[in-house]
Amino acid sequence: LSGSPTLWELLRGRAAASPERTALLQGDRELTFAELHDRAERVAAGLHGRGVRPGTVVAWQLPTRIETVLLMLALARIGAIQSPVIPYCRDREVSFALRTARAEFFAVPGAWRGFDHTAMARRIGAAGLFEAYTELPEGDPATLPPPPASGTQVRWIYWTSGTTSDPKGVLHTDRSLIAGGTTLAGALRLTRDDVGSVAFPFAHIGGADYLVMQLLHGFPVVLFESFALPGALAEYRRHGVTMAGGSTAFYTLFLAEQRKRPERPILPALRLLAGGGAPKPPELYHAVVRELGCELTHGYGMTEVPMITMGSPEDTAEQLATTEGRPPDGMEIRIVDDEIRLRGEAVCQGYLDPAHTAEAFDEEGFLRTGDLGRLTPSGHLVLTGRRKDIIIRKGETISAKEIEDLLHTHPGVADSAVIGLPDPVRGERVCAVVEQPPGAAPLTLQAVVSHLRSQGLAPHKLPEQLEVLDELPRNEALRKVLKYRLRERFA
Ligand code: ATP
Ligand code: MG
Repeated sequence: LSGSPTLWELLRGRAAASPERTALLQGDRELTFAELHDRAERVAAGLHGRGVRPGTVVAWQLPTRIETVLLMLALARIGAIQSPVIPYCRDREVSFALRTARAEFFAVPGAWRGFDHTAMARRIGAAGLFEAYTELPEGDPATLPPPPASGTQVRWIYWTSGTTSDPKGVLHTDRSLIAGGTTLAGALRLTRDDVGSVAFPFAHIGGADYLVMQLLHGFPVVLFESFALPGALAEYRRHGVTMAGGSTAFYTLFLAEQRKRPERPILPALRLLAGGGAPKPPELYHAVVRELGCELTHGYGMTEVPMITMGSPEDTAEQLATTEGRPPDGMEIRIVDDEIRLRGEAVCQGYLDPAHTAEAFDEEGFLRTGDLGRLTPSGHLVLTGRRKDIIIRKGETISAKEIEDLLHTHPGVADSAVIGLPDPVRGERVCAVVEQPPGAAPLTLQAVVSHLRSQGLAPHKLPEQLEVLDELPRNEALRKVLKYRLRERFA
């Protein structure tokens, strides 16, 4: 392949190189690369027959299922612009996404996990509604216009998690997604003998990474529409999955399962747990490697740049536990005023809102990530927090993360979020919001302060306000804490 290949060209190349190899597995269903290509092409013709053209915006809110991959590839064949929406999102967020992206079509699963997506889509007045599980249209591929000529056009609108404000629509090209997937496959040392698995919603940008990786290397991927342990273990074993992962939560789930029966490996074929997108405590790294007996490769990524840095087998255990790894070739990292800035082929084209784009890129074309970090002399990235998580009290900069890490050492704290609240005298004051474990004695501000003091926290960083909640507000998809909600609530 030369120039800037499209996702469709990758599929065509793979279907020609290894037509009979298994591409997708789900329950008792199985599809080879040739079947994947042929069916996706028929679906493309069906969609084209319904009016989907190159450049038409098609949103889809689908769980991880063979039909989802078929739809993605069919839209890539046409050269439509697709906008994946996380299946857990409800009326408000979905309607925001459809409206902002000006979607002309919307694919839903029908009823899924007790929620009627079709009814929701009607409620919010979605255009071009269809149920992808039962109504994926098929047609004659001879009726299709030629596939897109290059991978440099915007064809994807992904959504950020909305941790710091409303979700932002992130513009990607086949080229940026392929660049990310290619370097990820290299970092994970994937080969055609691997068996991958996707147990997170395909609407996350990590789903595209898997698609690219398997099209490049020709290995099968096992899909999980609903994921729960221990049930899913049988599927992992049946298909000899060698690589699993997602966000940090997956590591914890696997570890908990292994601890039920420490003497017998729960997943004998598993060689690698891989993931990222959320902080990974160093203790968790060591526990996974020791107890699950596999490698753990954790990385730093964001919707705008799915693969930024990743641990590598050349790293020491200490580096793997305490850093996010090094950037791959082609990813330029610059730290300006502690903020991480990025440039490279895998970086998105910008945002749906041109004002966001103008703000996000600096004069030299580096994306301002809003994340704070530093590079070690060996070139490993250490994340220290988010720019929006910085509290400025009486002109002193205070890191929320530093205080949160210390709060976690208190037995009465299950989780915490430290926020700055507007204060007429100090500019901002430090507020700790904590979630307590069931049955724990109620916390007081005084107790929290004396604990933090005993941990050596500087006096000007001590919280001046404590709020205790049964549950911190989190988003559904990744369980990320929504600090802006807390700021609104307690300001
Ligand atoms: P929004 O941009 O809408 O506020 P978001 O940034 O949480 O939401 P995502 O793109 O899903 O949306 O998440 C990317 C962010 O997740 C990164 O910018 C970073 O703050 C955090 N993150 C990613 N990887 C890691 C990691 N390995 N460790 C700690 N934090 C991480
Ligand atoms: Mg973000």
